[in-house]
Amino acid sequence: MKQHFQKMAPYLPFSALLRLSGVRVFMPFYHLVSDNPPPHVKHLYPICNTSEFSAQLQFMLKHFTPIGASELVRIVQTGTRGRKPYLFLSFDDGFSELYSVVAPILMRHSVPATFFVNTGFVDNRELFYRCKVSLIANAILCNPSLQSVYNVNSLLKLGYTDATSLTDIANHVDVDFDTYLATQKPYLELSQLKTLASQGFTIGGHSATHPNFSTLTPEQQLAEVTQCMSWVNTYFPNQPQLFSFPFSDIGVEAPLFSHLQNQPNTRIDLAFGTSGIKRGKHPMHFQRIPMEYSYKSAKKILGGELFYYLVKRFLYLG
Ligand SMILES: [Zn+2]
Repeated sequence: MKQHFQKMAPYLPFSALLRLSGVRVFMPFYHLVSDNPPPHVKHLYPICNTSEFSAQLQFMLKHFTPIGASELVRIVQTGTRGRKPYLFLSFDDGFSELYSVVAPILMRHSVPATFFVNTGFVDNRELFYRCKVSLIANAILCNPSLQSVYNVNSLLKLGYTDATSLTDIANHVDVDFDTYLATQKPYLELSQLKTLASQGFTIGGHSATHPNFSTLTPEQQLAEVTQCMSWVNTYFPNQPQLFSFPFSDIGVEAPLFSHLQNQPNTRIDLAFGTSGIKRGKHPMHFQRIPMEYSYKSAKKILGGELFYYLVKRFLYLG
């Protein structure tokens, strides 16, 4: 649906959409940036290369003022509005490219960012099941004899609960997840996260194991968040405590937010979803804008978001 609006966005004046919307903070998010997309994400979503990412960043810096997590918390508390809208940038899943590729680009442009990590994957202890699916798809696509046995499209639809069949298929196609973790090190290590934090980046939580929260009971949701934020509060205590819901926050109810704000050792100051420009479910909850599309124009992606938001607002008012 939103993609129809994105198709029209390049023909509309971005500055006018921006002014009309009155949006105070833009929160785009990515997973990683790479000139050579790694097999564990290559088949999941389109990734920006370094020049596409730099071009998007330049577009955003022309229209927005970049802010870090502490400024965001202050702006939320005080209701401050800047001369230009603010830009709060974040990255999910804690991939190693954040250290090797993304952070150097951001530092060159003096842009702060928050990196949301899955605490169960830090130090390459476990591989996210979607990454396992991508690795298997890659092995099949690289080997024509396997393509007559497996259908890559139906494989890409396998879910969190299909873990056993994933392991079986991996054995058949000769993919070893543990060897991949040990040799390729797809995730950031704690020492790298500490370096990133010392460079001014914020480390946030993205759950322990990246489940789909809409399939969990409220108790299971709370357990995932608590396990993750206890780790973040322990290793990164002197920063705002931020959490982004894995996949989306569908199925998460407002009482969870109130509860999480008041916990001494698993505190969350702000939480984030992935629904684009939209109001959150609680004063401490915000929605971010997904940036990973096959087309790479920031004007098209962000302009489409603004256009969609304005049309929705107009319809509700009408
Ligand atoms: Zn994620």
